[in-house]
Amino acid sequence: MIYTSTRDASVRVPASEAIAKGISSDGGLFVPMTIPTINLVDIERLMRLDYVGRAKEILKLYLTDFTDDELSACVENAYRADKFSSPEIAPLYSLSDEVQVLELWRGPTCAFKDMALQLLPHLLTVSAAKTRKNTKIVILVATSGDTGKAALEGFRDVENTQILVFYPENGVSPMQKLQMTTQEGANVGVCAIQGNFDDAQSGVKAIFTDRSLEEKFAEHHMAFSSANSINWGRLVPQIVYYVSAYCDMVKSEKLKIGAPMNVVVPTGNFGNILAAYYAKQMGVPIGKLICASNANNVLTDFLQSGTYDKNRPFYCTESPSMDILISSNLERLLFLLSGQDADMTRAYMEALSEKGCYKVSEKIFSALSDLFAAGCCDDTDTERTIRRIYEKYGYLCDTHTAVALNVYAAYKTKTGDSTPTVIASTANPYKFSKSVLHAVAPERVTDDEFETVEALHALTGAPVPPQLSSLRGKTPRFTGVVQKEDMANAVLEMLGI
Ligand SMILES: *Cc1c(COP(=O)(O)O)cnc(C)c1O
Repeated sequence: MIYTSTRDASVRVPASEAIAKGISSDGGLFVPMTIPTINLVDIERLMRLDYVGRAKEILKLYLTDFTDDELSACVENAYRADKFSSPEIAPLYSLSDEVQVLELWRGPTCAFKDMALQLLPHLLTVSAAKTRKNTKIVILVATSGDTGKAALEGFRDVENTQILVFYPENGVSPMQKLQMTTQEGANVGVCAIQGNFDDAQSGVKAIFTDRSLEEKFAEHHMAFSSANSINWGRLVPQIVYYVSAYCDMVKSEKLKIGAPMNVVVPTGNFGNILAAYYAKQMGVPIGKLICASNANNVLTDFLQSGTYDKNRPFYCTESPSMDILISSNLERLLFLLSGQDADMTRAYMEALSEKGCYKVSEKIFSALSDLFAAGCCDDTDTERTIRRIYEKYGYLCDTHTAVALNVYAAYKTKTGDSTPTVIASTANPYKFSKSVLHAVAPERVTDDEFETVEALHALTGAPVPPQLSSLRGKTPRFTGVVQKEDMANAVLEMLGI
């Protein structure tokens, strides 16, 4: 399997190089040049395997320069039963006959980012050993909250790696902040920036494509890579859980094999929903891909009009991991839907960075309309949805999952589509306790994060993940804040070079 860049058709690299590098030097993203396929017989075979077995089979199709032994070791280390609170790793919770919740937050940091970031460090160390001998890999992360913690946890004390995380000072939940600032490990660093997530992401991208920094790093036997979903190694593990969910739907007789399932994904950087698109292109019978956004509804407008326009107010919402106006992984989709036209994709991305907007061709727009449905909701409707779901089903969901459930309900009313549906649930509700408690019992909310957690637990009985409750009283280790213009200097300083 050969990978190319979304912005330069002449690029040809193996999977290990795409993963070790993270982003192509031309600023484009790595994509496989063909999408491997599976058929219903393969799905029947996968149904008999556990999550680890399914992951090995799917990853093998994409990471063809990894040996079977290498892949097995990576996957077995990533999805260890002692690190996940469910033996199924990504279990389905049945809300009703028609709606299943795919709980992607059973990993060590209670967000779906663990599904990829428990695996990525292993993929990356194998890749680096193949392509960059004697080089320390420096992972730079821009986070809207969950990626940062999941990456820190995934990379902590991994040999020959160093990880630095930037988060928007006022753009993450108190629990997310505490999870990051108390991170343990000898190879980790965390820094707040005065700006929003897009600023953090743009800053990190600028560092990646800065040739003089690259040279300076090389002198110190270091090379950058990315743990954001621009890295193919982040995306490919996410394809697995959609295939696995389909297997489980058939296994539990929610679906007949071959019948379609719809997928609803609360979306920010478009990585999670793009993974569902890949699963569909591979041959998994997925019907509509339903893209759910919060008040930062740039993707809703784009999918409904064909014009991407980030020139709009940025809102800090109760689903902060979706507070994004520059949705990086959309670039991969545009590349695929344009028939792998790197010139066209680069032109869109240049228009985005120069004017903040672009309009896609009729052909791309029509493909988008066939594949996707889209919707958005604000914080008030998010909270109403948390309450409605809790009262109707006794199920407590987080704010991001609630956006998906809200958008699904609107989609269902509008279309009458009764296809069995999987809702991607992306975080444990206790990561956003204040908003969730405010939704179900506003009179009980206090300013203390852990009192709020306790009140929510007392009220609902939903189990509190020990890795969250144990943060109570911990003193933050990382308190630095920098201007967004100073991120490169902060990196050099943290690395001591
Ligand atoms: C990252 C994140 C999202 C958005 O996922 P993308 O892959 O960026 O679209 C949604 N919900 C939660 C809880 C997240 O952490």
